[in-house]
Amino acid sequence: MLNKRQLGKFRKQLLGWFRQFRRDLPWRRTRDPYRIWLSEIMLQQTRVAAVIPYYERFVNRFPDVHVLAAAPEEEVLRLWSGLGYYSRARNLQKAAKQIVTKHAGQFPTRVDDALALPGIGNYTAAAILSIAFGEELAVLDGNVARVLARLGAIRGDLRESRRWQELQKSADKYLDPQSPGDWNQAMMELGATRCTPKSPQCLICPVAQFCEGRKLGIVESLPEKRKKRATVEVALAAAVFADADGQTFLLPPPHGKDEQATVDHIPTLVSRMWHFPTISVDGDPVAELRRCLRGILPDAKNGKWKFVPADNVRHAVTYRAITVAPFLVQVKKLPRITGAKRVPLRDISSLPVSNLTRKTAHAALRSFTAAPKTR
Ligand code: SF4
Repeated sequence: MLNKRQLGKFRKQLLGWFRQFRRDLPWRRTRDPYRIWLSEIMLQQTRVAAVIPYYERFVNRFPDVHVLAAAPEEEVLRLWSGLGYYSRARNLQKAAKQIVTKHAGQFPTRVDDALALPGIGNYTAAAILSIAFGEELAVLDGNVARVLARLGAIRGDLRESRRWQELQKSADKYLDPQSPGDWNQAMMELGATRCTPKSPQCLICPVAQFCEGRKLGIVESLPEKRKKRATVEVALAAAVFADADGQTFLLPPPHGKDEQATVDHIPTLVSRMWHFPTISVDGDPVAELRRCLRGILPDAKNGKWKFVPADNVRHAVTYRAITVAPFLVQVKKLPRITGAKRVPLRDISSLPVSNLTRKTAHAALRSFTAAPKTR
């Protein structure tokens, strides 16, 4: 660890660099905890460039915590649609409701109160409270951990509990108590633009002279690789109905206590948003789809429908490699199903849907133009 004089110099250099070169991002033009919180949630697992348009649309529609708390969940999910990891949006709104009812609409300033909100962990609480309120809390996520590991030449699996605690202590020691918000952002900016996972730019790093990893010539091997979780293959099949006008139907996400019963036959990977009838497959997909459809549409025509296979869709979610086999079912009239909604197959995004469902619709659409009209 650096001595007092070195630490002062280190902080001065990093903060000076950050204030001169920081990227101009929409959430950096405000101290509003609501907007900082929103940006931090959106940025989890998602690149800055992808987040910006979503962030701008979201704050336009939900400019403060009261508007967000009062909005229909479906609309919140629709504006989140495409960002993925939808539990983030659900937790955001649950937390907004709690802020309105328990904290009079003000984001809590005590760390324990912030941590009690859904979807807020140590990193997010530290980021919001330091940036919005100047609280002395150091952030630690994978990005900052990588920087700290290189600065301190720390080997081993950074996510191991004891090592992570040591990294937190190290982050706490580096934190500039005069400007904790800027300091945290400077560490994140260093990780995002200089001390990147691959090919760190040590030659133009503002704190290169303090970096133990660089001195030892081991920067490229830090952090050391974690054991990778084995990929799990998931096979699904989906029935995409289309009538002569190009209308399809989607099934709703489950709600409340009925959730488990509703999704029993539908993989939860797709059922938490509006979705096509979808099943896990380990046999004949058409036979299994017909069986599943009989459960939700007791329609005598089921046996006569023609299932036209479309191109498989591939999608990855964390360690899962998902393959969906979509089947287009062209009908004169869409069957009636309680709770389902009709939407144009070309424009299913008018409802909140996952990327997987969107890709499935595109694949089915390609068959739609080629397939002959059927009953
Ligand atoms: S010198 Fe290189 S490895 Fe060290 S902090 Fe800077 S960019 Fe990262």
